[in-house]
Amino acid sequence: MSSWRVCITLLVLFTIVHLTHAAVIVVATNETYIDRVAAFGPRLTEEGLVGRLLPPSDEEERYGCHPVTPPTENWVALIERGECSFVDKVRAMQESGALAAVVGDKHYNGWITMYAPGDTSDVLIPSVFVAQHQYQALLQLSKSFREPMLVRLVKDDMLTWPLLDMLLVVVLSPAVMMLFIYLTWRLRQRQRRKNELAPTDFVTKLPVRKFRREKQQSQDDHAECAICLEDYVDDDILRTLPCRHEFHTTCVDAWLTTHKKFCPICKHDICRKAPESSTERTPLLSA
Ligand SMILES: [Zn+2]
Ligand SMILES: [Zn+2]
Repeated sequence: MSSWRVCITLLVLFTIVHLTHAAVIVVATNETYIDRVAAFGPRLTEEGLVGRLLPPSDEEERYGCHPVTPPTENWVALIERGECSFVDKVRAMQESGALAAVVGDKHYNGWITMYAPGDTSDVLIPSVFVAQHQYQALLQLSKSFREPMLVRLVKDDMLTWPLLDMLLVVVLSPAVMMLFIYLTWRLRQRQRRKNELAPTDFVTKLPVRKFRREKQQSQDDHAECAICLEDYVDDDILRTLPCRHEFHTTCVDAWLTTHKKFCPICKHDICRKAPESSTERTPLLSA
């Protein structure tokens, strides 16, 4: 049952990760950078938002705490966390004519949801937060383009998921879960099977003797291998189990290592100590 629980937890986590993240997509390269939409300001629309991503032209204004001269039309501000509150940055970028603001963390990797206390109804542009790696990558990329690069901000809605993501969740998750359960089951089966068999090196250490008909104590003595049902003939190699029962070495070795670790006659577990009545003959033998 524990494997079921693990699978369900993984599935839920996978779903949560997909549900709570939106993304910045670089239109030219189709690269996707996971982001998180702020708790204030308008939501991203169904079709997303397309604009030219630009850090403020003046390096000192990289925190975006003050309005700047619009560097281009339809621009999305790429600014750094720190110096002032998130909502102050977004307000300043709104005033600077930005369509949206992407706030990135330069020092720590991890997504946060940007909150703002008080009334934020004056915030009319959406804003998203990107973690350190995404921020650095976007910053680098925006510098490498000659023209300001076009980005699309997509919303964190199941409806905007790419088909592949949908397929992953709907088809692959149950498939992975089934595979996991199957492998666990196989492993347990194998372990159980292993516990039912005697180790080969243990079996080969059990005593053997050569059969001699004249040495048999009585006529009644068992002179047949209970596994292959053949009578013993002189020079046959017999193996003696801890319970004193004897069989052809080849017959009993195969039985113990591939079938069951119990004596075929008295069912004694050969890996355990010899039974108290080991010297007694079983009714089957003396019959
Ligand atoms: Zn035999
Ligand atoms: Zn036995």
